[in-house]
Amino acid sequence: MITMENLQKQKVLVLGLAKSGTAAAKLLLANGVNVRINDGSKNIPPEQIDSFQKMGADVIVGAHPLSVLDRIDLIVKNPGIPYTHPLVVAAEARNIPIITEVELASSIVPAENMIAVTGSNGKTTTTTLIVEMLTSSGIKAQVSGNIGSVATEVAQNLEQDEKMVIECSSFQLLGVETFKPKVAVLLNIYEAHLDYHQTFSNYQQAKWNIFKQQTEEDFLVYNDDDPLVKAAIHQAKSNVVPFSTTKKLPKGAWSDDTSLYYQNEAIIDIQSMPLVGSHNIDNALAAIAVAKLNGATNEGIREVLQSFSGVKHRLQFVDNINGRLFYNDSKATNVLATEKALSAFQNKSIILLAGGLDRGNDFEALIPLLKHVKGLIVFGETAEKLRIVGRKANIEHVVAVESMQEAVQAAYEISEEKDIILLSPACASWDQYETFEERGDMFIQAVHTLV
Ligand code: ADP
Repeated sequence: MITMENLQKQKVLVLGLAKSGTAAAKLLLANGVNVRINDGSKNIPPEQIDSFQKMGADVIVGAHPLSVLDRIDLIVKNPGIPYTHPLVVAAEARNIPIITEVELASSIVPAENMIAVTGSNGKTTTTTLIVEMLTSSGIKAQVSGNIGSVATEVAQNLEQDEKMVIECSSFQLLGVETFKPKVAVLLNIYEAHLDYHQTFSNYQQAKWNIFKQQTEEDFLVYNDDDPLVKAAIHQAKSNVVPFSTTKKLPKGAWSDDTSLYYQNEAIIDIQSMPLVGSHNIDNALAAIAVAKLNGATNEGIREVLQSFSGVKHRLQFVDNINGRLFYNDSKATNVLATEKALSAFQNKSIILLAGGLDRGNDFEALIPLLKHVKGLIVFGETAEKLRIVGRKANIEHVVAVESMQEAVQAAYEISEEKDIILLSPACASWDQYETFEERGDMFIQAVHTLV
């Protein structure tokens, strides 16, 4: 069991000083733990090194000599550092326990305050929905993950009756031993991150760690429509609560063509939800189940679902300009995500803005979904490849542009009332932008210059 009291008797190595390593080191040092910090980068600002040294840490940067492992009892590893890293391999050979920052955070939060969400897709959206549903029901909650602060920071500031809703990546979950959330959520599992986990089986095992330590007093909300998830939950000792979009579930959350339900109660009409896409029905159902298990009210849940139009950059509704509906899905950095976005607007007339970094991707898979697309505006390194795909799909207008401003203008010029103008690039952003967030912000800005 990891407790601060035990850690105070140990020497802990914080490996990797990114956002989570920095927060972990600060937490340990503030609690009087003997800390060593090691980061391979030569560009750590001297003031940061100095400030850690002043707090009592010994700091080794610029390389990973094996001697950093000497006298170490425990390692808090940054989730981005793979287990194949030579220093990690050496630590394992010496039987030094390795945990990640999320497990350290969980050691200072009462288990009943912790809600953890994982899955290959939908984590950020579901985590956000849960926090909003709890808050609008008068229950205090804070988010930790992609869009919030890192877990150790949130854990330190959490009030006694406040829930901590943690978005957990497979990288974080791989390194947990004692992590035991009161409510865990398993959204779905697809082949992903095989460069890091090497096999699909390793990746699945990491995800299943979310419920490994749960007992009869805990809950596991899971996707009953996902066969791999459904098979895995037999290993769980906790109370399982299913969600499904294909069947009625008297013990879980479910939907039919018109409404979302929890057990035998109708919660909300789908018509009154601005969220688009069938994948978001999954996310909403998972969030409803968690919110209900934590005492949220139907009114609180409804209020959120009637106004929530998506997390920023994830099929986010931006504006209605002269009857044209603009959506920002800049997070769609691969073909699969753009397929999801296009399927969310079936039977609508779409103008798609796409293109970006060329990773040798193949866009042919988009062709069947391009039949409602009347305009394709392409940009970035993949512009030419996408233009060819657009021609093959017989799209009426295919236009190549240089900038986001031009792309939005070109889309608007060929649009009519009721058209969907969708940024869903199917590519990473790094050829023209620092991040997908910057690309999405440029889109939003360009949309607002139209009025
Ligand atoms: P994550 O945090 O897991 O990356 P997000 O909520 O940020 O997930 O959504 C990222 C993208 O994943 C969305 O733009 C959408 O294309 C897709 N997505 C979201 N939820 C789901 C889901 N439940 N099932 C499948 N795909 C989804």
